[in-house]
Amino acid sequence: MSFIVAIDGPAGTGKGTVTEILAKKFNLLNIDTGATYRCVTLEMLNKGIKLEELDKIKDLLETIQIDIKIEKGKQLVFLNGEDVTEKIRSKEVSEIVSQVSSIKEVRLKMVSLQRKMAEGKDVIMEGRDIGTYVFPTADVKIYLDADLEERAKRRFTQNREKGINMSYIEVLENIKRRDENDKSKELGALKVAKDADVIDTTSISIREVVNEISEIIKKKKIDIKLQKKIYKPRKENAWKKFVRKAIKTILAGLYKISFRVKITGQVPSEGAYIICSNHINYLDAAAIVLFNKRKVNFVAKEDLFYHRILFWLGHLFDAIPIKRDMQDIDAMKRCLKVLKNGELLGIFPEGTRKGMEKNMKAKNGAAFMAIRSNVKVIPVGIHGTFKPFSKVYVNYGEPIDVSKYSKEQLDEATETIMNQIVMLTKKED
Ligand code: C5P
Repeated sequence: MSFIVAIDGPAGTGKGTVTEILAKKFNLLNIDTGATYRCVTLEMLNKGIKLEELDKIKDLLETIQIDIKIEKGKQLVFLNGEDVTEKIRSKEVSEIVSQVSSIKEVRLKMVSLQRKMAEGKDVIMEGRDIGTYVFPTADVKIYLDADLEERAKRRFTQNREKGINMSYIEVLENIKRRDENDKSKELGALKVAKDADVIDTTSISIREVVNEISEIIKKKKIDIKLQKKIYKPRKENAWKKFVRKAIKTILAGLYKISFRVKITGQVPSEGAYIICSNHINYLDAAAIVLFNKRKVNFVAKEDLFYHRILFWLGHLFDAIPIKRDMQDIDAMKRCLKVLKNGELLGIFPEGTRKGMEKNMKAKNGAAFMAIRSNVKVIPVGIHGTFKPFSKVYVNYGEPIDVSKYSKEQLDEATETIMNQIVMLTKKED
């Protein structure tokens, strides 16, 4: 799986410089997507093709060859085999590149080229629409911004260093026009991705910007590593069983000191069941896991595993991490395997704490798995304030057979389960 860093933002925010430094620092392939639009523009100028000559532009797109290579740490851009790294920055190209990049056919072709360039590689890509359109699932999304005048000043100085002859006012007007055009594009408009980190570079140095983004990249890399570990189940062995038993005894003791636990009903001593409980507190799953003779494989949201101790406990008790707000097929497969092995699976159908109180619709996952695996559901009603030394009631109900429901009647099956849970939450003796 490749690692993708998207750096978006308007001209003059420092994208190019920052991207070059970060590429070296994190060993990422640097892809300047603006350069691809500049190449198309340069080729149109070379061939005297005008913006409105769409047929000629389409022909040009059929044969154009754009390559981005890194030589001696510098990014070089090749158009049909010729090194055009400097030429694509000319005043003539800058003046119309934004309009060229607004042509739908140009955009589609360049986006597909950019995706191909990144295929299977770890990349840092700078542009306008990387985090929103080219790679909406990029691992890191940064949006750089800065005041217009500051950006124009930077670009003016940069141009002078490169021998490009444009007055400050020309640069300012050019950037202004490009901004407007880039923001109003039909396809791939310049905008902040919902999940992007926005950095205003007006009054901070390049080094500070690089440091800030470096921290974000490092954190993401750690998260990815951790995620891989989270999803790797630990094998069962005698030592794990022993540690689990010892930890269970200690934690159950602590639980009993903290609360007066009242349990009614029980879980059959063998066979696969899905234990479905209401969810009012972080400690209610513990009441089910710790006071059960059998191991309960609880489904828990992935973020819990980011905590070191919970990560360890989760693996020890074979909790199944699940990604929220999406269909997590891997988690589902692990749940079905637990049932196939004749074990207990624990689920909170509310999906979140106090889901019923918040009037949220219960999730159908438990009903789906019960029907699919032909196992019964054990409803559990938990109630209590969870204040120190208060009573915590854990009421197990009779196993519910949901096999009479078809896969099209999951809502009805879930309702049956939830009704039983609600009844059990009222029981106090
Ligand atoms: O980044 P640079 O200034 O070289 O980009 C040139 C132009 O290419 C931008 O003004 C913008 O119109 C267009 N562009 C784009 N989408 C990108 C990158 C650049 O539309 N991802």
